[in-house]
Amino acid sequence: MPEELNPFKIAQEQLDEAAEVMNLDKQAHAILREPMQTVIMNIPVKMRNGATKVFTGFRVIHNNARGPGKGGLRFHPQESLDTVKALASWMTWKCSLGNIPFGGAKGGVICDPKTFNPQELENLSRAYMRAVCRFIGPDVDVPAPDVYTTPQIMAWMMDEYSKLVGHTEFGTITGKPLETWGSAGRFDSTAMGGMYVLREAAAHMKMKLKGAKIAIQGFGNAGAYAFELAEKLGAEVVAISDSHGGVYSKKGLDLEKLKQAKDKTGSVVTYKGAEKVSNEELLELDVDVLIPAALESQITKANADKIKAKMVLELANGPVTPDADKILFERKIPDYPDFLVNSGGVIVSYFEWAQNRQGYYWGTEEVYERLDAIMTKSFKDLIDVQQKYGAAGKKITPRTAAYIIAVSRVAASMKARGWY
Ligand code: GLU
Repeated sequence: MPEELNPFKIAQEQLDEAAEVMNLDKQAHAILREPMQTVIMNIPVKMRNGATKVFTGFRVIHNNARGPGKGGLRFHPQESLDTVKALASWMTWKCSLGNIPFGGAKGGVICDPKTFNPQELENLSRAYMRAVCRFIGPDVDVPAPDVYTTPQIMAWMMDEYSKLVGHTEFGTITGKPLETWGSAGRFDSTAMGGMYVLREAAAHMKMKLKGAKIAIQGFGNAGAYAFELAEKLGAEVVAISDSHGGVYSKKGLDLEKLKQAKDKTGSVVTYKGAEKVSNEELLELDVDVLIPAALESQITKANADKIKAKMVLELANGPVTPDADKILFERKIPDYPDFLVNSGGVIVSYFEWAQNRQGYYWGTEEVYERLDAIMTKSFKDLIDVQQKYGAAGKKITPRTAAYIIAVSRVAASMKARGWY
């Protein structure tokens, strides 16, 4: 992987830039440049043919000054320690920006879950939990779903953890199914949070959402729900893609038909009545809002000057590289960062953890109302900081503004705890 696309180098570069602008204490900066704890595991798993296969797994806590580690767990063939370290640090900033009482963590297993049968998936999930259990817990580090992991996987893991500690511990994992006391509203919370940001950002730049054209890269949990919710806001989704490619129609796409195509053939590319586009072409379409909702490093210096959207909303983690960030900023295309836009998932995870610990459960409306309040406040905080720096002659990107808020809170907590 070229150095400029290494997600951990990117995360460090973003922090360095914010540290300079905000004049961050050097000791705090040194603590925050590296994760606090990295666990690498060899995980033996019984496969369907009876043979044992060994997988490599990771769990990283980037920082826990403000609370237990929090963050998802990915099952992905291209997983790497540097990706997990980057994602763990973005979780620190995500939890801090939303002002929820967690630090940042992330986990991953190098594997291709698409090749597993359900029993193998369960075996791997339970084996991962056995390997990592000493390093997690409701007051230590709380995993959740992410790329190619599901509520069912979270239920297996919670069950395995509960067996290991000798009592049921719902609060050790979030993003669980409702049957195991997941939270109402968790399944579409990432997209829901992103749509609250879209509403606020559109109002801020005086863009009419009714009829606005949207392209979404990714048709996973976040991308598919974003489609549905964007339509509810009156916008029109004209392009969508998955790992096989995408489709584009100026007249808009039909969500039900896309789901059918995906269910039947495994990809949205078989959707009828639209033009086929590659994942790269989708990013460059003439739309109002571009929502990358797939993987890291999609908008880079190679394509940032070809983006035609008026706004970019990062629903994926790390889809825009620092070079691209600068180009978009110079071109006056606001790019709202991942750790604001996709923070709805972890915010409702926080609600789930809080409900599990109280043993008292809220309705969907209450969850959405509380989520809206946090997302809206985070957006307004970001704009305030951006304007404050702008008024002092320092033009900063939305991402740097978000970093300044998030890093200040973590640094203040580390200072109060006497870490520096
Ligand atoms: N995987 C999600 C994220 O990257 C959710 C994490 C969580 O709920 O802990 O934000």
